[in-house]
Amino acid sequence: MIILKKLYSIQKSKIDNQNTQLLEQQQELINSNQLLKNRSEQLLVSNQELERFAYIASHDLKTPLSNIISFSYLLERELKDFDNEKAHEYFQYIKKESNRMNTLIMDVLEYSTFSSKAIEREEIDLNQLIKSIIDALSIDLNKTNAEMRIANHLPIIKADKAKMYLLFKNLIENGIKYNKSEKPIVEITCSEQEDKFQFQIKDNGIGIAPKYHQNIFQMFARLHNNHEYEGTGLGLALCKKIVDGMSGDIDLISEIGRGTQFIITLDKAHFVELVH
Ligand code: ADP
Repeated sequence: MIILKKLYSIQKSKIDNQNTQLLEQQQELINSNQLLKNRSEQLLVSNQELERFAYIASHDLKTPLSNIISFSYLLERELKDFDNEKAHEYFQYIKKESNRMNTLIMDVLEYSTFSSKAIEREEIDLNQLIKSIIDALSIDLNKTNAEMRIANHLPIIKADKAKMYLLFKNLIENGIKYNKSEKPIVEITCSEQEDKFQFQIKDNGIGIAPKYHQNIFQMFARLHNNHEYEGTGLGLALCKKIVDGMSGDIDLISEIGRGTQFIITLDKAHFVELVH
């Protein structure tokens, strides 16, 4: 009996100890959760400030730049009989660079105003949406001899049409642009699970080295300069923002010389209502 009592008391004190430890760990977890919450709130605020700064800077740059562009066209007209080859060559640089700056400003403006735009959900037939993107890109597709393939029937969903359009357009455009194949091919497939849609946008282009996969979605991340491929480095950042806004996920599988496959995973319950 005494032995049993002793065993019981040993066991009880062990359990008490474990309970205390568990309580301590629980408290630590609560503290770290609170810390994480504070940090993400701070991050949200600084992101909003950054976007506001980008908006103001690009908005204020827009007017002087369009004046520069207009006056350089006027000046070019005035100087058209001026016989100096170098002067005309420099003029072309001014025009090209100011147009490039204009594109950059417009892209930054679009990026920085994107979060504040209201979400307009509507029924979208993704087959139709992709078709309208193909129509809009038809000049590029013809010029590069590129082909678009839609491997299976895409679903009809309820989402923000303008955002879905931009998301797919950016990825398709990149698949054609960063491509040196004789026949560039961009293929779209969709696989459906019980609670998710997964879209794959696959190209046979130049590919992206794995060491860049992590930061390729950051603002202004570019792996090529403007002499090789023109761009602003905001397309994929915008894609990530769109997918994040739908609590989805965007990832890629790619290697240099082996093409690129972007994978978008969207949770049906959270953002899309399947119509059919
Ligand atoms: P942009 O095309 O304006 O430079 P993006 O944000 O769309 O900006 O792309 C960022 C960079 O990622 C590009 O400059 C390019 O180096 C690389 N990239 C994007 N898409 C592809 C692709 N499909 N294949 C190869 N490289 C790509």
